[in-house]
Amino acid sequence: MLQKSWNAVTLICGNHKKDHSHPMKLQQGPHSLFFSCPEYKSIYGDDHEGRSCNNRLTLVDYEKLLDYLTERTYAGDGLQETNLTGLKFTLKGVDYEVLEHTKDKYRVLMLNRKAISK
Ligand SMILES: [Zn+2]
Repeated sequence: MLQKSWNAVTLICGNHKKDHSHPMKLQQGPHSLFFSCPEYKSIYGDDHEGRSCNNRLTLVDYEKLLDYLTERTYAGDGLQETNLTGLKFTLKGVDYEVLEHTKDKYRVLMLNRKAISK
C-alpha cells in the first residue's frame, strides 16, 4: 500500500502557464506551515522585485490531496494500482493535474484559484 508520505507528492505551481519549473516550498506562516510558490514575495522579505505569485496550499488541503490520490490509485479491488498520469480534478477550490505518476511518486500541478485572485 501507498504510505501517506510527505515526499510521495511533489507539488508544482500551476500559475505560470506552461512553465512547470516552480516546485512549491514548505514555509512557516504566522499560524502554521503551508506550501507557497518560490515566486511569492513576502512583505517581510528583502526581494520586492517582480510580480508576486500568491499560489499556496495549506497542510489540511495537502492531506486531502494525499487521501484522494491514494483512493484513486487503489480504487477497485485494491490489488491493482491505477496510474493517474494526466488526471485532472478539483478539491476545495484548488485545481490539480497529475503531471507524472510513477510507482508511489506523483508530480502534481496545483492552482489555488482563491489564493491567486487576491
Ligand atoms: Zn507560482
